[in-house]
Amino acid sequence: MKVTTMDFDNMSSKELSKRLSEFHGHLGPYLVLGAKMGLYAKKTLSSSPFEISAEITMPLKPPLSCTIDGIQFTSGATTGKANLKVSDGLPIKIVFYKENDGIVIVPKQNILEIIRTRVGHEDLEMLAEQIMEKDYTELFEVQKWTKQ
Ligand SMILES: [Zn+2]
Repeated sequence: MKVTTMDFDNMSSKELSKRLSEFHGHLGPYLVLGAKMGLYAKKTLSSSPFEISAEITMPLKPPLSCTIDGIQFTSGATTGKANLKVSDGLPIKIVFYKENDGIVIVPKQNILEIIRTRVGHEDLEMLAEQIMEKDYTELFEVQKWTKQ
């Protein structure tokens, strides 16, 4: 089987935003937050969409759950390949792993707060672009994870 992926390393953030928006239907801050998580996981664990798996826990309600589409788009872990599991609940966390080792990503409270307070009031595309330009360390906490 020939594995095809998108070359995110050589893609501008503008191009990535465009493709995300075409996939999901609009460009929003949660979508971009998820995309940044997926990019980080891919860079850390595996560039193959068949080697990486993800388990997402979060309330399954848009706009928050738009995050899930961002994660699928960039990490390559998708419901169709059965390497993505989504559970409704709190606290929000995303486990990415390859075989027995992985990482847990938890979005920072202040970022969630910023998005929450602006949704419905401001230009969400602009907020999405701001999230896109932020460093990973500003967006989420990362811890090592090992399969029990
Ligand atoms: Zn959305």
